Amino acid sequence: MPNRLKIQQIADNIYFARPPLFQRLGILSTTANASYNDILNTIILQDDLFFKKKGQPTRLKDYDDSQTEKINYFSLNSVSIFHELAHADIDIFIEEDPNSEMYQTVVNEIPKWAGENIYGFNAKSVTHEIIGYTAGNILEVLNNKINTILTSHGIHPNLTKCFSTGALIKTKSLLNIDADIKFKDVLKRTSFYDEFIPKDIFIKGRHISVKGFPLVLKRKVLNYFIKTYAISIDSTTLIRKMNNSHYREKLADCYNPLL
Ligand SMILES: [Zn+2]
Repeated sequence: MPNRLKIQQIADNIYFARPPLFQRLGILSTTANASYNDILNTIILQDDLFFKKKGQPTRLKDYDDSQTEKINYFSLNSVSIFHELAHADIDIFIEEDPNSEMYQTVVNEIPKWAGENIYGFNAKSVTHEIIGYTAGNILEVLNNKINTILTSHGIHPNLTKCFSTGALIKTKSLLNIDADIKFKDVLKRTSFYDEFIPKDIFIKGRHISVKGFPLVLKRKVLNYFIKTYAISIDSTTLIRKMNNSHYREKLADCYNPLL
């Protein structure tokens, strides 16, 4: 549930392009789901991310389209897209604005660490990828946590159905769900902080371990995402958000018949 306004602001400043044209022009060839070209300020998305139907304008697949796909298409691809949006954010907003709170971190501190600790790779690329993979990780971790919470409450993760009545009766008593139907913190106040920062990144397909990325820099990167996108950093905050969202309506749909 990241902040849509910020994402919109980035999206307004970049261009989405489909790969065939760009590949034909020789500008970029890509096998990833999404990639970012910082010269063109363009995010290149794989063709299968687009919804195409004769007589209808081509558009990016959205969540509803993903419901008809066999795999969890949306979360898989939103992870790649958020990763690429983070690159665009660094390029367009952070590196261009010395007053940005992340400016020093992105332009000096992380590249300095990367230059001293990661050999054989461009320090700026390492910086970009640590932040890109952090963005993707955040979405992936939150998506997994939300799925776990939904499943523990007897809701199918794609929100299409509730578990069987028998299973819901058991869950209702196990979690003490009363007339005020609310999600309970089944994750027991766990922090997601450590899971958000990647331990590995990849540059042009080559693996780099970033296990040694210093805590002080981790904090700066994470605080940026937490502040900018209003990200939940622990299960308490996430449960509170879910109780104020469309997820709670689904929970009510499942448990109302049992009251
Ligand atoms: Zn990247």
